[in-house]
Amino acid sequence: MTKQLVLFCDFDGTITENDNIIAIMKQFAPPEWEALKDDILAQRISVQEGVGKMFSLLPSALKGEIVDFLLSTARLREGFREFVAWTKEQSIPLYIVSGGIDFFVYPLLEGLIEPERIFCNGSDFSGETIRITWPHACDGECQNGCGCCKPSLLRKLARPDGYHVVIGDSITDLAVARQADYVLARDFLLEKCQELDLPHAPFATFFDVMDALQRMEVIV
Ligand SMILES: [Mg+2]
Ligand SMILES: [Zn+2]
Repeated sequence: MTKQLVLFCDFDGTITENDNIIAIMKQFAPPEWEALKDDILAQRISVQEGVGKMFSLLPSALKGEIVDFLLSTARLREGFREFVAWTKEQSIPLYIVSGGIDFFVYPLLEGLIEPERIFCNGSDFSGETIRITWPHACDGECQNGCGCCKPSLLRKLARPDGYHVVIGDSITDLAVARQADYVLARDFLLEKCQELDLPHAPFATFFDVMDALQRMEVIV
């Protein structure tokens, strides 16, 4: 039986070389953001609570400036454009599952990924400060306060005939990586895959990702 490859790819630190929320905070937020970041990393507060509070430190009027800043500084990882073209050629579904925010994820992926394939957090600029909205919050099976819940999205988008591959880099990809058939990992997620003995391969560029997937198709 042949299975259909279905890809779930993280955005920050995976498609882009750096984490865009951290870059935004460093550039625009008052120093309080650092304590919130530390609280998230120490799991004293959920990602949802921490990210919501970080963005509430920023005036809504900064929207345009933030987007311009990221468009001129964020770098897409080597091979990403070729990888996207390859998945289209092969008709392999590629979903972007991101804890990032719509107002910068969509512009950075414009012309590459169709908006309906992108799952991330939302934003509301109608108030004094930026309010984050959560269109993909945790389903009944997850209590982690993920904000954008990747395990919930995999449950929703999985196919009965699918071979589900997660591509990611950080702690926020770990729960979904455990549910996947295979993981392509870098950085912290790679260490965790090794430690937990999850089926995985490392990657540095999206050419590595393509190589690994091409080999996998034979096995699948
Ligand atoms: Mg990431
Ligand atoms: Zn969740």
